[in-house]
Amino acid sequence: MTWTSAADFTELWFNGFTHGECREVLEAASGYKASRLLITRYKAAVLTEWASDRGLRTALSDFDVIESGTLENKGHWINMGRRAPAGHGLCFVYLGHRLRDVRAACASDASGEDAGLLADLFRIPECCLRFYELHAERARMEFDNDYAVVTTEATTATGPYPWYNNYLAQYFGHSLIHHFPCRWDCEASQSRALYSLNLIADVSASWARLTEAKCRGTVWFSPRDGVHMVQGHLISRGDDYRADEVVSTVHSDLTYALKLGADRSTWDPAATDRPPGVPKDAVRLEFD
Ligand SMILES: [Zn+2]
Repeated sequence: MTWTSAADFTELWFNGFTHGECREVLEAASGYKASRLLITRYKAAVLTEWASDRGLRTALSDFDVIESGTLENKGHWINMGRRAPAGHGLCFVYLGHRLRDVRAACASDASGEDAGLLADLFRIPECCLRFYELHAERARMEFDNDYAVVTTEATTATGPYPWYNNYLAQYFGHSLIHHFPCRWDCEASQSRALYSLNLIADVSASWARLTEAKCRGTVWFSPRDGVHMVQGHLISRGDDYRADEVVSTVHSDLTYALKLGADRSTWDPAATDRPPGVPKDAVRLEFD
């Protein structure tokens, strides 16, 4: 099929789709699963035409989503939105091979999310679905529907964790999974992610390498102070990094401390796991 060439994705890239969003599109285009993207109506129109040219089915939410409540500080990403009239925020686009599937996903969101149905359509592992449902209330109340804290609490293994499971990289436009894994080392999520990595590698070896480079590294987060990442480097391994390899969903004192910390003469990695100025309550996760 022609859509498996990298050239097919350039139109999406040139219209502002992230690599993570293109991975969702690829998964749907390959018939692996149905996909859901939360994007602007401009991008939705581009995607709908792109998909129609390739015989793929799409459905569009008749409402938009905007951030609600406390500012999530997750960049362009919305984990906990509220509905707004079409044209006021981001809309859902559902994409897949079968009209029945995209309609079912669209109807599920329209009437209130049916997590089980969506997990089936989006190929979310059973263990992670159960975990999601079990912690849904707390995640919404305390963490704006992000699960990084609860996943960390549930993980007994020490890091570094498999980079395939680093969904937090999605906040910077990359990731192999779009669901919250039940453990950072969840094996079902790893298999699921590796399948997607193979799909990507078949389209472009460069895309696969880029995904790995952007998912490996040291992540720092505190529930409402955004997500920060030293891309490509493990602090515990004593890796040197450059200030320009620090990315943040929200620029804060933590960003500044991480950038300053690139000058390793200012701190001793053998004595501390964090550069000076990185708050004690900021959780460090490493993915390799
Ligand atoms: Zn799991």
